[in-house]
Amino acid sequence: MPPHPKRKHTKGRRNRRRSHDALTAPQLIACSNCGEMCRPHVVCPNCGRYDGREVVAKKEKPKKE
Ligand SMILES: [Zn+2]
Repeated sequence: MPPHPKRKHTKGRRNRRRSHDALTAPQLIACSNCGEMCRPHVVCPNCGRYDGREVVAKKEKPKKE
């Protein structure tokens, strides 16, 4: 049974590995149609529009937050 950690990794090694693990918040821009903050290059989840035209039909009953 060879594959087995031979010894524990140090805290420094663990922390160095985790130095690239941080998550970043998504980029947000104001929608040109409704002004809602949404991600660029993505159909607006609020009004369903992209590049000035309706791409996704908006729901009849928009849920309240
Ligand atoms: Zn919008």
